[in-house]
Amino acid sequence: MSDAPVLFVTGGSRGIGAAVSRLGAHRGWRVAVNYASSREAAEAVVAAITEAGGEAVAIEGDVGKAADIVSMFAAVDRHFGRLDGLVNNAGVVDYPQRVDEMSAERVERMLRINVTGSILCAGEAVRRMSSRHGGQGGAIVNVSSMAAVLGSATQYVDYAASKAAIDTFTIGLAREVAAEGVRVNAIRPGIIETDLHASGGLPDRVREMASSIPMQRAGTAEEVAEAILYLLSPSASYVTGAILNVSGGR
Ligand code: NAP
Repeated sequence: MSDAPVLFVTGGSRGIGAAVSRLGAHRGWRVAVNYASSREAAEAVVAAITEAGGEAVAIEGDVGKAADIVSMFAAVDRHFGRLDGLVNNAGVVDYPQRVDEMSAERVERMLRINVTGSILCAGEAVRRMSSRHGGQGGAIVNVSSMAAVLGSATQYVDYAASKAAIDTFTIGLAREVAAEGVRVNAIRPGIIETDLHASGGLPDRVREMASSIPMQRAGTAEEVAEAILYLLSPSASYVTGAILNVSGGR
C-alpha cells in the first residue's frame, strides 16, 4: 500500500479545486476530491489522475452542512487511513446586489458555505494532523480572495466579508497550531478564469475586468494551483500564517 501523503480538496470537482487536485496528484499526493453536486466532473478529475498513474477518490458532501463535513472526513479515513493536507477551496458567490437589497437567507448561505464550512473542515483536519491529537503534522491552505481587501462594492460585499473572515481565521489558526506540526496559510486569487463568475450571473466578468488588472489578463486555475501546492509543500516549511496574493498585481 502506498504511503504517499493524502490531500483533501473541498470543491475539487471544478475550477481551482480541480486544478489543485490534478497538480497535487502530479506532485505525489493521493487526493480526495470533494464535490457537492458535480459528480461527473469530480469523477472526471479522479479518472484523469488515475490514468496518469496517481491515486484519487471522489467524495460527495456539502461543506454548508456540518453532518456532511463529518462524513466526508470519515470517508477520507476509510479510504486512505491518513490525512496530510487540506485545501479549503469550496466557495460560492451570488448575484450582484447592494447590501441594502440582500436577504438574510442569502447572507446566511454565503457565510455558512464560505466561512463556517472552512472552519469546520479545518477543525476536522487539525484533529487528524496535529501532534496534540497524535497526528504527524500537515498543512492547510485556505482559499480567500482579493475581494477580502477590495470589498466588492455593488457586486457582493457579503462574499468579500466572508473572505476577510478567512484571512483572519488563517492567521489565528496558524498561531494556534504552529507548535503542533500544522502550518496554515491562505491565498488570495484575483480574477481567475472559472465558472464562478457565471454562477454569480456575470459570465463576461473575466473579459470585462481584464484591462483593469495590472498584468492585463485574468489568471488560470493552474496558476492558482501552483501557489497552493507550494504552500502545501516542504518548500514552505517555515511559512505559516501567510496570505499570498495570486492576482496579477490587482
Ligand atoms: P467554481 O469554478 O465555481 O467551482 C466551485 C467548486 O466548489 C466546485 O467544485 C463546486 O462543486 C464546489 N462547491 C461549491 N459549493 C460547495 C459546497 N457547498 N460544498 C462543497 N463543494 C462546493 O469556483 P472557483 O472559481 O474554482 O472557486 C474556488 C475558490 O476560489 C472559491 O473559494 C472562490 O471563492 C475562490 N476564488 C475564486 C476566484 C475566481 O476569480 N474564480 C477569485 C478569488 C477567489 P460542485 O460543482 O459539485 O457544486
